[in-house]
Amino acid sequence: MGNYILALDEGTTSARAILFDKAGGIVDMVQREFPQIYPQPGWVEQDPMDIYASQYGVMMELIAKRSLSPDDIHAIGITNQRETAIVWDRATGVPIYNAIVWQCRRTALMCEEIKAEGLTDTIRAKTGLLIDAYFSATKLAWILDHVEGARERALRGELCFGTVDTWLLWRLTDGAVHATDMTNASRTMLYDINKCDWDDALLSRFGIPRAMLPHVEPSSHIFGYHTLGGVRIPISGIAGDQQAALFGQRCTRPGESKNTYGTGCFLLMHTGDTPRCSEGGLLTTMAASADGEAPQYALEGSVFVGGAVIQWLRDGLGLIRDAEDSEYFASKTPDTGGAYLVPAFTGLGAPHWDMYARGTLVGMTRATGRNQIVRAALESIAYQTNDILDLMHRETGIPITTLNVDGGASANNLLMQMQADFSALTVRRPAVRESTALGAAYLAGLSTGFWTKDDLAAHAGDDQLFTPAMCEDARRTALDGWARALRAVRAWSEAEHES
Ligand code: ADP
Repeated sequence: MGNYILALDEGTTSARAILFDKAGGIVDMVQREFPQIYPQPGWVEQDPMDIYASQYGVMMELIAKRSLSPDDIHAIGITNQRETAIVWDRATGVPIYNAIVWQCRRTALMCEEIKAEGLTDTIRAKTGLLIDAYFSATKLAWILDHVEGARERALRGELCFGTVDTWLLWRLTDGAVHATDMTNASRTMLYDINKCDWDDALLSRFGIPRAMLPHVEPSSHIFGYHTLGGVRIPISGIAGDQQAALFGQRCTRPGESKNTYGTGCFLLMHTGDTPRCSEGGLLTTMAASADGEAPQYALEGSVFVGGAVIQWLRDGLGLIRDAEDSEYFASKTPDTGGAYLVPAFTGLGAPHWDMYARGTLVGMTRATGRNQIVRAALESIAYQTNDILDLMHRETGIPITTLNVDGGASANNLLMQMQADFSALTVRRPAVRESTALGAAYLAGLSTGFWTKDDLAAHAGDDQLFTPAMCEDARRTALDGWARALRAVRAWSEAEHES
């Protein structure tokens, strides 16, 4: 039995290999960026060989750096950028087109056509998703439509489709295993999350032969083996990045939630073995589960501009030099003096859904300066998160009493205190903030007996807590002000509709 679990984390811009010990601590990590390809405005691709080579490279570099022998590694877990679509030749392993990345908007028109066919409710009921170019289905259909002969080859069973996890698994097992896990399958817009099977009606709508799709397994499961120096290392955990983070935060029961404060924010609430359908624009998605367990579900909401508003203060306005400085300047003033910043640079998502909304700074006086604006920017991240928390509460009836946090901007203590205050809940920040990789490691370690569920619970000791310190009146006033700022945004976008 090896002493370590190796987590492979293939993000959107870089690959990382992270080694965890029995106590769930990070022993070491290696990270490498890989190239992005922008063939046209709005199009985003990656070379699948770059994806694999960067992931394999960091894994081997980490093994060399720590002078590990293959049998030191008990198991491998994989977590990945979700929704990105790859198609390759089953016999040769050669991709027939670049990976179409989740951000790519090339199929937006195809999505409009599907909406016009009246499929919105059916797709939401089956897949839990809103029709959007984001998800894999239309990307895969695009490849079959545009690469010569692809559809015929797919029908003959000569091609494989996979999300990034499936591609890595297939290569790491030398083509022996073509599989994915339920969390990744639930982001394709082809998977019926109630029946836990690919949906024949959707496959036929998109012209996708079932033969090219991977087997779907629970996330904590022995998918196959990677052979290294004659040693067979089990690949025994797979989950998409947000669901891996949810698991890494040990959120496995209804109501347990996490928010990742990155460029955008991703909030997931576990809903147990019941899929909850949202009317307010949240996505229903699958959470990690293990062999023999009932399928698990989560609700997902996202904030488009989270940490990105801090990047804007730095790069757009030049108000701060580093993202960390935001805490220093915002702390120099006790409040914003009534100013509110709504960073709706690309519209507003759940629960407002206004694609015409644009950023607004309201309530300024002559006393409004750098400190107040920086503070208003930080507050906007907490207010937007609070709007999603409210929506989740309204739609599920489950109150969220603790919010588990991770991501780059969760390092900001002031922001974490704001969240506790505005949302009147406890914010829990774990000692190991690499929740995504930790989640993949946990999944791999559980299915191979490296850890038990009780072991994981014991890892929670070093978490940092932020508890609400704002009186209810002040909280109400703050939230009312935010609601008023949103009305100002709406007035602006309504005028756009009218003009
Ligand atoms: P991603 O994975 O989306 O690239 P990260 O989790 O690395 O994002 O977080 C980076 C984001 O967090 C950036 O948008 C940055 O502006 C913001 N950020 C990083 N550190 C801080 C901080 N101390 N305070 C506020 N925002 C921060």
